[in-house]
Amino acid sequence: MPKQEFQTEVSQLLQLIIHSLYSHPEIFLRELISNSSDALDKLRYLTLTDESLKTLDFSPRIDLTLDEAANTLTVADNGIGMNEQDLIHNIGTIARSGTRNFLSQLSGDAKKDSNLIGQFGVGFYSAFMVADQIEVISRKAGEEQAWKWTSDGKTGFDIEPAERGTQGTTVTLHLNDEGKQYANGWRLQEIVRKYSNHIAFPIFLTYDKSEWNAEEKKSDKVRTTEQVNAASALWRRSKSELTDDDYKELYKSLTGDSEDPLFWFHTKAEGSLEYTTLFFIPAKAPLDLFHADYKVGVKLYVKRVFILDDSKDLLPQYLRFVRGIIDSEDLPLNVSRELLQQNRVLTSIRTASVKKILSELKNVAANEPAKYLEFVGQYNRPLKEGLYSDYANRDTLLDLVRFKSTRVEGLTSLAEVKSRMQPEQKSLYYITGGSESLLRTSPLLEIYKRKDIEVLILDDDFDEIVFAGIDKYDDVDLKSVNKASTSDDLKSDSEPDQAEALKPLLDKLKATLGDRVKDVRASVRLADSPSVIVSDEEEPSLQMQQMLRAMGQKELPTPKPTLEINPDHEIVKKLLARPSDPLTQDAAWLLFDQALLMEGVALQDPASFVQRLNRVLEQSI
Ligand code: ADP
Repeated sequence: MPKQEFQTEVSQLLQLIIHSLYSHPEIFLRELISNSSDALDKLRYLTLTDESLKTLDFSPRIDLTLDEAANTLTVADNGIGMNEQDLIHNIGTIARSGTRNFLSQLSGDAKKDSNLIGQFGVGFYSAFMVADQIEVISRKAGEEQAWKWTSDGKTGFDIEPAERGTQGTTVTLHLNDEGKQYANGWRLQEIVRKYSNHIAFPIFLTYDKSEWNAEEKKSDKVRTTEQVNAASALWRRSKSELTDDDYKELYKSLTGDSEDPLFWFHTKAEGSLEYTTLFFIPAKAPLDLFHADYKVGVKLYVKRVFILDDSKDLLPQYLRFVRGIIDSEDLPLNVSRELLQQNRVLTSIRTASVKKILSELKNVAANEPAKYLEFVGQYNRPLKEGLYSDYANRDTLLDLVRFKSTRVEGLTSLAEVKSRMQPEQKSLYYITGGSESLLRTSPLLEIYKRKDIEVLILDDDFDEIVFAGIDKYDDVDLKSVNKASTSDDLKSDSEPDQAEALKPLLDKLKATLGDRVKDVRASVRLADSPSVIVSDEEEPSLQMQQMLRAMGQKELPTPKPTLEINPDHEIVKKLLARPSDPLTQDAAWLLFDQALLMEGVALQDPASFVQRLNRVLEQSI
């Protein structure tokens, strides 16, 4: 077959990797070992589940071989292997959707970018930082023919038939100037221990070891093969045996993240079900957190054997930022992927794991507030998704979520807001429907400000939906200030006889606005603004309706909001004093339109609004 050229993205990617990772090119070894480990995991699983592979004699291992004379380093495994197509697809092209995405995310900051490289799995190419020529000889398990893939990493690759005694993959790096430093047995051992010590399979290094020859008083080079990693399933050891560094190292080799995790929760359950879980919270939210095809971060093991790492059923979706391991003693090794969801053992483990993660987070919040702030800085939004989807844990989640508020800078908890309630205050309040700045200046907040009642600012686009379903925190009602019904906390001020006096004006306004409004009435919530829009208890707010319509929901009835006017405002007082002023009609519409504008709702007829405004201006100048 003639030489195949790389897609333009591949060469672009190589250049980016080489430039962004030049500060620690050693991670190429971690990437290759992790590929080998994945290949071994996959084959081990198949030998348990696939009839045709059950008889395979399989002792998984990874072999590093250093040939100083030839200036080559090879990384070999007896894992699942690749056939011709796999080679072209997996390492010859950028087939995976994540990779293009990756390219668009690179920042040029070496540290951040090296993190990304692990996350998006463009690992293999990192070997071109240290090699000017790479050969991959691979034979797929169950097939006879092996294939050789060769490339200089710049122009393209060649592929041709080859021989290989057993299934698996051998990657040979012809080291370049940058790579020469790795033609050193000690250096390689150091790197393996640093990044891959807890890979579950033994890693052997074959190299020329210097040994002291006492007789001849000189050191001899002796060809030696030694196991260089601990190869322990570290999570199965007891907590007391493990140091923070052990955990951090395992986290990094599991995830490819170069930053330490924020914290981790390690649990060993014994009793009716036996299992171990080790969960990590990454310091930075994964970049695909809000992509529908996010990468799952939890791996399932059964009795230390890797089973799968791509099941979205291991944890609820809102905890998709969690990384780690679930290792069960009770599941069968050949547990079928399709039945995972209904598997009772797994359902129990999942339920207990969610409880555990949430309760541990509560501990962090109580004992390490600064760390917890870092956590919510990254993960507040997924926790809110949990409020919506995980009814069973809602109370805990309500304690974990943090809020902006009219009272404090930064974020606050519901417990804190509750503790700051006024002596007479009966409910907790929040406002939704727009950006933070729009909400903070909303006329709806005026009365709360005056009464010194704290209001939560919920400015995430899905907050209204999430909180519409939550009407209590602890024993206190949770109320939206956007809704029409006025609560006990506001009623006290309104004077009953004022209503009588206002009635003719209200009727007039209502007649003018016609079926654009459901009702016009006197407000008890305004201090400085003349008018405001409120929504019905059951109806989505105007903002929400606008959003639903933008998302393609055409069936919605045209919204009919209620307009409230402020009886104490000068404009209203003047209108009341001059019931037959010709400007009353214009004033009605202006009061309505300005209230809409303050809600962040676009006017249906901006031209009329401007005409009215100009008429009024003309009169007043
Ligand atoms: P990632 O491992 O993150 O998917 P890589 O670029 O490192 O990204 O590898 C691309 C793909 O090539 C892998 O997903 C895997 O399918 C295949 N591959 C790489 N190395 C090996 C190996 N040693 N054995 C089998 N398949 C491999």
